[in-house]
Amino acid sequence: MSSEDEEVEKEKIDIGDKEENVYSDSARKELVDSGGISAREEGFMEGYNEEKAEEECDTCENIITEKKIVKEIDGERHTFCSQKCADEYKGD
Ligand SMILES: [Zn+2]
Repeated sequence: MSSEDEEVEKEKIDIGDKEENVYSDSARKELVDSGGISAREEGFMEGYNEEKAEEECDTCENIITEKKIVKEIDGERHTFCSQKCADEYKGD
């Protein structure tokens, strides 16, 4: 009989520990959610806009400002600052 009582008490302790873990986990997640997501979204949008506005020449890595040459090589779209760079590009 005494061993049964012990088991019940152990179970109670286990549940108590779990509840504590769940609570601290969700509290931690809330902290991450409130602070993290907006910062991550801002960073993502900034990076996305930058990528859209500035394209690099795949040969000389200069930022393409005015005319850009777009060439499809092996199914991939490559952008170049000039026809010369497009001709020089060697896709591996
Ligand atoms: Zn170039």
